[in-house]
Amino acid sequence: MLDFDSAQKKLAEAGPAPAAPQTVALMQANGRVLARAATAVLDAPPADNSAMDGYALRAADYAEGRGLPVHQRVYAGEAPQPLPPGQAARLFTGSLMPPGADTVVMQEDCTETDGEVFIARPPRPGQHVRRRGEDIARGATLLPAGTVLGPAQIAALASQGMATLAVYPRVRVGILTTGDELVAAGQPRAEQQIFNSNGPMLAALAEDMGAVPQRVLHAPDDAASLRRAFEQLLAECDLVLSVGGVSVGERDLVKPTLAALGGQLDLWKVRMKPGKPVALAHVGGKPVVGLPGNPVSAFAVFALMVTPMLRRMQGRAEPFPAVERGVLLAGKPYRGDREEFLRVRSSVNEQGVRALTPYPQQGSGVISSLPWAHGLARLPADTTVEAGDLVRYYDLKHWLR
Ligand code: AMP
Ligand code: MG
Repeated sequence: MLDFDSAQKKLAEAGPAPAAPQTVALMQANGRVLARAATAVLDAPPADNSAMDGYALRAADYAEGRGLPVHQRVYAGEAPQPLPPGQAARLFTGSLMPPGADTVVMQEDCTETDGEVFIARPPRPGQHVRRRGEDIARGATLLPAGTVLGPAQIAALASQGMATLAVYPRVRVGILTTGDELVAAGQPRAEQQIFNSNGPMLAALAEDMGAVPQRVLHAPDDAASLRRAFEQLLAECDLVLSVGGVSVGERDLVKPTLAALGGQLDLWKVRMKPGKPVALAHVGGKPVVGLPGNPVSAFAVFALMVTPMLRRMQGRAEPFPAVERGVLLAGKPYRGDREEFLRVRSSVNEQGVRALTPYPQQGSGVISSLPWAHGLARLPADTTVEAGDLVRYYDLKHWLR
């Protein structure tokens, strides 16, 4: 059995590098991963401009009680005239500074009468001017390669006039659920059957990661059906996730089927709870991860072990989100021979201390723990963990993005 950290690392490294970049329009770039560093082509702002509605002048021209003739009015988008000494220019937020002016006085401190402006208090030289390049200097790295583009990044790219971008292709994920007992939601269910929750769950997880759930198939527990389904998914997708049938039961046929397809089986069992049976194979160069069938296990293994691999395949610079710390508020001591990941809720108190409260039922089939939980608290193996102990915390807000 592999320990959790080694397994996580192995899986992350097993993700092939992303395919060649493609070009997308800026308006289509939300959620995509930048394939090449974006370098500023412009100074931002591109010219000195006013941070306020008010008047521009030379600070040296200010004298108490003196009126300055208003030489020009500069509206946003207009090109100003040079400002003669001893005069002022009316301007507005974003108006360009007239050549010669060095200071802006906000309109609240000014009175304009008969074409002259009177300034109530001495200005600080240079005040309220946004300097050319003070935000971004031309040639500076705006965003490194591997950045996930969101609204903030898109704003920065748009401000540089970048209309198209090189991004990595979206990773196509194929999902295969297995099991004779399963029936799809919306279909009639016999007494002895259960609804398939892992298929829709994994599709949604892949989508939240910015991947494409390209196809979701289900196969009963027979080798021929499994093989056909794997073949189809491998043909259509970059990464295949199967779920269930990966344990040691008589009908657990995923492992032999992958072997029959020529799969190189890299990893088998991980010393973690939930989620002990996890398999990684490469078939024709494509990674296949066999997830455990219990929905909570599949969810946890996806969050902790599949997402770093997926991020790598997406070309993201940071495959591992931050792991935080929190104080466990457990009603009982925990001790196990595998690392345990508890479904917990997190709350931060006034002192900034994070408290982690476990869901009362921690079984790997307890689906009600999933919508309830904020994250996973990690308890080390072979160690007694008690209420008040500091433990590692994997926040799903970060681990599932
Ligand atoms: P398995 O690893 O195939 O033995 O599955 C372990 C447990 O997870 C069994 O109770 C299965 O019924 C359940 N399970 C497997 N796949 C799914 C699924 N797609 N949706 C809901 N439960 C599942
Ligand atoms: Mg099964």
